[in-house]
Amino acid sequence: MSSRILPDFELLLPQSVPEAVELLAAHRDRITVMAGGTDVMVAMKFAQSPAQLPDYLMSLEHVPGLAYVLFDPDKGLRIGAKATIAELLAQAEVKQHYRALWNAARTFATVQVRNTATVLGNLLRASPAGDCSCAIYAIGGTVALQGPAGRREVDIDDFWLSYGVTARRPDELAVELILPPPAAGSRCAFKRMTRTNEDLAKLNVAVRLEMAGNTCVDARLAMGCVAPTPLRLTKTETLLKGRELTAEVLQSVAASVPWEIDPIDDKRSTAEYRRQVSGVLLKRAIQEACGAA
Ligand SMILES: Cc1cc2nc3c(=O)[nH]c(=O)nc-3n(C[C@H](O)[C@H](O)[C@H](O)COP(=O)(O)OP(=O)(O)OC[C@H]3O[C@@H](n4cnc5c(N)ncnc54)[C@H](O)[C@@H]3O)c2cc1C
Repeated sequence: MSSRILPDFELLLPQSVPEAVELLAAHRDRITVMAGGTDVMVAMKFAQSPAQLPDYLMSLEHVPGLAYVLFDPDKGLRIGAKATIAELLAQAEVKQHYRALWNAARTFATVQVRNTATVLGNLLRASPAGDCSCAIYAIGGTVALQGPAGRREVDIDDFWLSYGVTARRPDELAVELILPPPAAGSRCAFKRMTRTNEDLAKLNVAVRLEMAGNTCVDARLAMGCVAPTPLRLTKTETLLKGRELTAEVLQSVAASVPWEIDPIDDKRSTAEYRRQVSGVLLKRAIQEACGAA
């Protein structure tokens, strides 16, 4: 974290979800929601001009009932908007049934950041590098949004619109994430490459495979840091579906990835390096999901 001075701002502290939604509706584009603040604070410190700063910062600190991680074998996993990465890691069912998400959380930043940062904040930030975002994209799920007209659920496949932009409307609060119940034969894995573990990923990947023996019945593959938003590798997925996971199939899957991604050069890596290693990282994630690594 830099030593830059945080600019002045007006802090709003709603005491309930309806009050938070009222404030969002009243101030719309002039208000920013803050959960853990690990992205919001950095963005405010690094704002290039006053136009990039919100007039109001609305902290969820005093909003009760949103800090839960609840598992039901029939309904799946529900993660409240204030549940932190550390709280997710503390749930044995997450480790057992949602291994990709658990591994993303386990390798996420530092203990201090994990104690503060929320899972939903990672989705709402809409960064292509988000580790939980990548894992959740592979697993599938829906984000529940509460607005003045009520609650609606957005499929994670439709959630990220462009860099930093989600399907959330300005007057909506994200209240929870719902992940599907574990299916028989479902396996998942997450892998990432970073400069240091405290840093954001330079490349991350997550897979969810539905297996019948050694045959892949269905696949969801997600990759981060290779496009303006987290990316689903839908073309590469078709190379897995209905196929036995032989060495040749895995090789063709790895070879397909560079054609499906559009990475850039940035301070964490180069486009060329990302292209070179993306297929290998995906192959290793598939092997890990299948218990071979
Ligand atoms: C030192 C450091 C290390 C980091 N390492 C990692 C890492 O390893 N992996 C990684 O993926 N990220 C990392 N991050 C980024 C950050 O910690 C994560 O994105 C985190 O999950 C954000 O959660 P938060 O609760 O702090 O979100 P906040 O900063 O509070 O919010 C993030 C965004 O989501 C919006 N938002 C949050 N909650 C809601 C809501 N309920 N409704 C509507 N909008 C909402 C905010 O307005 C903001 O736009 C790191 C950050 C720092 C400072």
